[in-house]
Amino acid sequence: KPKSDVTEKKHCNVGTIGHVDHGKTTLTAAITKVLAKDGLANYVSYDEIDKAPEEKARGITINAAHVGYSTKLRHYAHTDCPGHADYVRNMISGASQMDAAILVVAADDGPMPQTREHLLLAKQVGIRYVLVFINKADIVNDEIIELVEIEMRELLSDFGYDSDGAPLICGSALRALQGDPSEHGVPSVQRLLDAMDEYIPRIVRDVTSPFLMPIDNAFTVPGRGTVVVGTIKRGVMKRNDDADLMGFGYNIKTTLSDIQIFRKSVPEAIAGDNVGVLLRGMKIRSVETGMLLCAARSMKMTNHYKANIYFLTRSEGGRKKPVFSKYSQQMFSGTWNIACRIDLEPSMHMMMPGDHGEVYLTLLEDMVMTQGQPFTIRENNVTVATGIVTETLS
Ligand code: GDP
Ligand code: MG
Repeated sequence: KPKSDVTEKKHCNVGTIGHVDHGKTTLTAAITKVLAKDGLANYVSYDEIDKAPEEKARGITINAAHVGYSTKLRHYAHTDCPGHADYVRNMISGASQMDAAILVVAADDGPMPQTREHLLLAKQVGIRYVLVFINKADIVNDEIIELVEIEMRELLSDFGYDSDGAPLICGSALRALQGDPSEHGVPSVQRLLDAMDEYIPRIVRDVTSPFLMPIDNAFTVPGRGTVVVGTIKRGVMKRNDDADLMGFGYNIKTTLSDIQIFRKSVPEAIAGDNVGVLLRGMKIRSVETGMLLCAARSMKMTNHYKANIYFLTRSEGGRKKPVFSKYSQQMFSGTWNIACRIDLEPSMHMMMPGDHGEVYLTLLEDMVMTQGQPFTIRENNVTVATGIVTETLS
């Protein structure tokens, strides 16, 4: 049993991504092995990780191992998937919700197609921090490693990641797993863990952007007015701030007359706080679950979005037939749903069950959706697709 008290530490969701056979699972096992020495993890063997149990998320089957470990600073929940298709399903369904990804690249291969595809998906689903582990340093010389470093920095920059600041750690997961004390062995995994502690901000909550809160619930307080309840997704709310209540085609101007946390009035509340907000002049019948309370004029409401979508296979309960443009069904996200039309890229004739790719969404009414927001498509109450918003279109 790990000795440390993980409950006192900040929690962080991470995962290994990258091309098949580049060493993701070996690295995951090596991390637990290295930390087990200090009582910060239970050692989880390669085989235990690789035979990840099947789980059902939003109707689809995902194979993913969830490994927990601690550094001196915080607790990590680490996701490793067995195959490429599992990564695609895991990331597009929003099942892992990683705060940061460890992109593993084998030095002898360099970046490969799935290296790019996983990084693209990471960007699309809104993973903000990527660290690179250049693996298999034991079988190449230093010049090769330098080349891979340059290629990886270029790749990060291609996808809009912090190409100069992102940590690039070079080592050998296999050597570390074998307990090799030389530079490419155990110390390389320790360097990766130090970089994770340092590079991933301690509070991943975004408190600098304009505030945003999805409405979970609303009720009337006699003599006072309408209170909306939710968890602030980002930003800071202050009493008397102007706000827009948006969704289902409506944009209602209002003011935050009072903010309460645990039934106590507070002058302000920040991302992560669960709050009740009294809205000036708001009628209860104007409020619908799924609307968003946003800082005044900070968000655009539209019915056009770009999304990455995965169509479930027949064996996952999905469709039997392919999907063509103008496919119309009910879309579900969070606590709300709306009629939606899906159009494929013009170059794409159809999508088969089991396919994934980018599509265009047209909602029946204007909504506010944010990048990385997961949704499902259902036909007669059966989930046939899972997706994630990648872009707001006008
Ligand atoms: P994954 O598909 O990305 O999870 O890759 P695995 O962790 O399954 O590793 C694929 C293969 O590469 C296995 O045979 C590993 O033993 C081997 N491997 C992993 N890391 C290293 C390393 O640092 N050096 C060498 N030489 N082989 C490695
Ligand atoms: Mg693996």
